[in-house]
Formats: sequence, structure tokens, C-alpha cells
Amino acid sequence: MLIRRYQIGGPAMTIAPASQLDAADPLAAFRSRFVAADDPSVVAYLDGNSLGRPLAVTAERLAGFVAGPWGRGLIRSWDEAWMAEPLTVGDRLAEVILGAAPGQVTVADSTSVLLYKLMRAGIGARAGRSEVVIDRDNFPTDRFIMEGVAAECGLVVRYLSAPHDTGVRPADVAAVVGERTALVVLSHVAYRSGFIADMAAITRAVHDAGALMLWDLCHSAGVVPVELDACDVDLATGCTYKYLNGGPGSPAFCYVATRRQEELSQPIWGWMGASDPFAMGPEYRPAQGMRKFISGTPPVLAMQPLKDMVELIAEAGLTAVRQKSVALTEHAIALADEVLAPLGAVLASPRDAAERGSHITVDHPRFAAVTAALWKGGVIPDFRPPDGIRIGLSPLSTSFAELERGVEAIARELRDHAGPH
Ligand SMILES: *Cc1c(COP(=O)(O)O)cnc(C)c1O
Repeated sequence: MLIRRYQIGGPAMTIAPASQLDAADPLAAFRSRFVAADDPSVVAYLDGNSLGRPLAVTAERLAGFVAGPWGRGLIRSWDEAWMAEPLTVGDRLAEVILGAAPGQVTVADSTSVLLYKLMRAGIGARAGRSEVVIDRDNFPTDRFIMEGVAAECGLVVRYLSAPHDTGVRPADVAAVVGERTALVVLSHVAYRSGFIADMAAITRAVHDAGALMLWDLCHSAGVVPVELDACDVDLATGCTYKYLNGGPGSPAFCYVATRRQEELSQPIWGWMGASDPFAMGPEYRPAQGMRKFISGTPPVLAMQPLKDMVELIAEAGLTAVRQKSVALTEHAIALADEVLAPLGAVLASPRDAAERGSHITVDHPRFAAVTAALWKGGVIPDFRPPDGIRIGLSPLSTSFAELERGVEAIARELRDHAGPH
């Protein structure tokens, strides 16, 4: 046993055993709802923040979809259900996950494409302003698309820097925004450190400068409660294959606040976002409301699985999901302190749970090789350069025992295969 349960010479428990935490976990039973959650070849799945596990009910839903609406309904299903689906699924996401009233969310495209559309829409509404702001540690696609949009529109990108184990704070944003700023783009939960940005305060600072705010929710949607309406957010997007378990390449969602919908226009004028797609008219006239943010034919098949996860989260309650997420990351940090720190690993995530999403990152110079070896043995975290192992904890499918097995395996790999540093 790698983990010392008790301090030498005293009864004080240093870390609660995983078995005890699992026994006391009110959400423990949800794990059995996922496909092959107890497949012994997967010792520890610690990457639900990159690709969530499928739900058993999703297999049934997909089979039913093929047999029913697609197989028998055929093209008629577009009229009967599918045209509305991006907006009805969007409304349910808005209600359960995003803290948003109906009519402000649609499912469409990928996060990358929606980032492009929303960035262009936001910048278009602030014509004459010359700068956009993003942080250096944001996910690559967010930075790349920002660079591309800036080049296309003749704007300057101003980069924010933040400590690599936390992230951007309101004062950092307030210091760079001003009358030249058109748009600020940040991630709510940082993909590497897991830091939770202060959505309300940052959005306020951006608005004080007269600019618009676009939040990327990829690492918070489904695991960290979000209040888009209450925070007065303008624009948001996020993917559905991470904590929303929509499956590989499942479509993203976008939010545009009702008060902005009239003034904003997105740059990809497809027929499905037009006011009357089947009029086949000579010119593009945008649909009313959220539909105009759709471009081409919506990925209806690919948006089926995420519906199951949204309902599972509704059943468990997002507050309870967040509580378990905090307990899991607390346990992960305790284990990392106990067994990884003595081997030279360094925590690169916030210690304050209020500032931490549902994953932690631990750095060690040998973690690239360690991760490759772990995957072979069925222990699956992920690696993020330059030297971080990311331990992602998806509260409804991850047990404390699984987490503990994973961290023990990381320690074993570091210790038993100690190569040159
Ligand atoms: C996962 C993630 C993405 C992914 O974008 P795709 O278009 O789905 O590939 C983008 N941004 C952030 C912050 C992410 O975490």
C-alpha cells in the first residue's frame, strides 16, 4: 500500500481512505449508468474532461433513433422534430447547465467554428475599436482563431499573462481593457491549471470599457455551475464531448444574450440560419432570434447522446455534482501531496477549491514518458506540455477508488522507472 493512512505516532488520519469516501458518496450509484464503468482493463479513467464516458442509455437512444425518426420517419422527421432540435436541446442545456433563460442557446458546429462566428459577431458590433484581448495560456484553438480573426479584421491582439498554476483575474483584465477594446475572450475554467475565472467581475470590467465578453465554457459546462444571465454575459460557447458526454466530435453550443441578438450578426450566412430556409430565395435574410446563429444543416444525429447526460445531471443536481467534483479534486491534491510530491512532482492547480474546476495538473519532468507507460497499463490521465499530467474527474462516472488507483500508478511508474531527469 503506497498511501500512509495514519501519521506515525498518532491516530490522526492524513487522508480518508477511498473506500470510505465512496461509501459516503451520495452520487456513487450513478457510475453504474455508464458503459463498462467497471471494465477491469481500464484501471483508472482520469480523462473524462477530454472525452466523457458514454451512458448505457445512449446506446438504446441511438438504436431507437436509427429505427424510428431516421429509419421510418425519414425526411419527414426534419419537419416533425429535427428543425427545432438545435434550439430545444439548447434551451434544455440553458436551463440545466448554463443558468440561461430560453431562446439564447443553440447547438451547432464545433467550438472552434462557433468561436469564429461569435468573435466576428462581437467585433462587428464594436466597429471602430482596434483591439481584442485573450490570455496566452488559453487553449490553442481559442488563440489561433483569435489571431486569424484579428488578421482578417485588421485588429491587434493584446495578450494577458497569468501564473501558470492559476489564471486571469479581474484586475488583470481591468488593466488592459479600454476604449480601443472590442472583445475579450477567456476560458471560464483554464484547460491546464483548472483555475475558475471570476465570470461576474471580469464581465463587468469588460462592460465598463464598453467592450463585449465571450466566455469559453469547454471545461466548465456540466461540472461547474454557470450563471450566464446573472453574470450579464454577452456571448459564450463550449463543447459537449467533455463533461457532457456527447461522444467524439459531438457538436458545440453557443449562447447569445437576448439583448444582443438583434444587434449582432454572424459571418457564415447559411441557408439554415435564414428566415425561411425552404423559400430558396435570392438573398440571405437572417432568421429571428437564436436561429440566425445556425449556418448549415444541424448535426442532429450527433446531438442525441448529450441529451442523456444533461438529463442525468438534472437528475443528480448540478449542485451535488459540483460538491462531488470538489471532493474528488481535494482528494486528488491530498494524494498528490502524499505520494507524488516526495518524488519531485509539483501541483500546478489552485489549492483553493473555490478557484478550481474538476481537474488538477501535476508537473514533473518525466511525465511525458510516464503517461505513455500508464496508458499501456489502463491508467488514463492525459499529458499537457511541457510536463503536466492532467487528472480529470468526471463526478458522475469517477469513483474515489479509481482516482486513488490512478495516482498510486503514477507514483509507481515514477518510482520504479526512475530515468534521468
Ligand atoms: C476542448 C476545448 C476546445 C475544443 O475545440 P473543438 O473545436 O471542439 O476542437 C476549445 N477550447 C477549449 C478551451 C477547450 O477546452
